[in-house]
Amino acid sequence: MYASSFAYHRASSVADAHRLLAANPGAKILAGGHSLLPAMKLRLAAPAAVVDIGRIAELKGITAADGGLRIGAMTTHAEVAASPLVAKSCAILADAASRIGDPAVRNRGTIGGSVAHADPAADLPTVLTAVGARMEIAGASGTRSVEAAEFFQGMMTTALGESDILTAVWVPTIGSGRGAAYAKFPHPASRYAVIGAAAAVDASGGACTRAIIIVGGITGMPTRLPSVEAALTGQPLTDEAIASACSKAAGDLSGDLMGDIFASAEYRRAVAGAYVARAVAAAAKRAS
Ligand SMILES: Cc1cc2nc3c(=O)[nH]c(=O)nc-3n(C[C@H](O)[C@H](O)[C@H](O)COP(=O)(O)OP(=O)(O)OC[C@H]3O[C@@H](n4cnc5c(N)ncnc54)[C@H](O)[C@@H]3O)c2cc1C
Repeated sequence: MYASSFAYHRASSVADAHRLLAANPGAKILAGGHSLLPAMKLRLAAPAAVVDIGRIAELKGITAADGGLRIGAMTTHAEVAASPLVAKSCAILADAASRIGDPAVRNRGTIGGSVAHADPAADLPTVLTAVGARMEIAGASGTRSVEAAEFFQGMMTTALGESDILTAVWVPTIGSGRGAAYAKFPHPASRYAVIGAAAAVDASGGACTRAIIIVGGITGMPTRLPSVEAALTGQPLTDEAIASACSKAAGDLSGDLMGDIFASAEYRRAVAGAYVARAVAAAAKRAS
């Protein structure tokens, strides 16, 4: 199917993108186009104009900043996956990016587009919430930084306003004594997460001192599992203790859960704990 007709504008800077957005009410920002263009072809979105931010140099690149990494919004999944800086500072993010879609998706799709789109089955929102990332946003009247836990607000709903441009994602360096890992059940066709589980674990003397557990693909937005976190904390990070704590995952997943012809909501809820356990075991290994 073809998209309905639209005007195309290419922005040369963030300021120019703001100018184009203001001049074209209802315009959509175009990054890698791997979520926006399919939505336009299906006529789920029909903006009268798009503002292409793909050539804005200031939105690209990965640099060390503030005890972590600043990753420009237009950095592609392939660049995140291949970055030695990301592998060293935040290996969970490199792992997750390397498993997004296929090479075509990873070469065009961007970290900023994934975060702004906030698809409930996307990998990066889950991972970025678990590690405590911050989103750098340029609004028409200034910049601000929003914690991932506040940024994702519901299914495809974020803290971004109409004229906001996500300029970068900041991720902390995962230091010694801490490990983070991601486990996913990928849809066999798209590779989107049917279930995605991210664990960030602090360990001392073989025991868990703090755990943050986030799941995606099951609920409308990245969702914390407080019962699993509480059951892990203070316990030895043995296979048995991890399995016992993660069996509480289903209890934390209630309400409006996602299901489809491939995997029902009941199935996702029942199987989530197994993926959470894999993520916790891998995170514990990295923390030791
Ligand atoms: C076949 C296929 C398989 C996929 N598999 C996976 C998968 O396994 N896991 C996964 O996580 N994702 C998957 N994706 C999604 C992919 O990661 C997309 O690239 C991503 O979700 C959107 O990034 P984009 O750069 O293409 O954004 P676009 O499609 O250009 O934009 C998406 C939305 O975000 C807005 N936007 C983009 N950038 C900004 C910005 N800087 N500031 C404000 N708003 C912005 C746009 O206006 C639009 O509304 C898949 C996509 C396809 C087509």
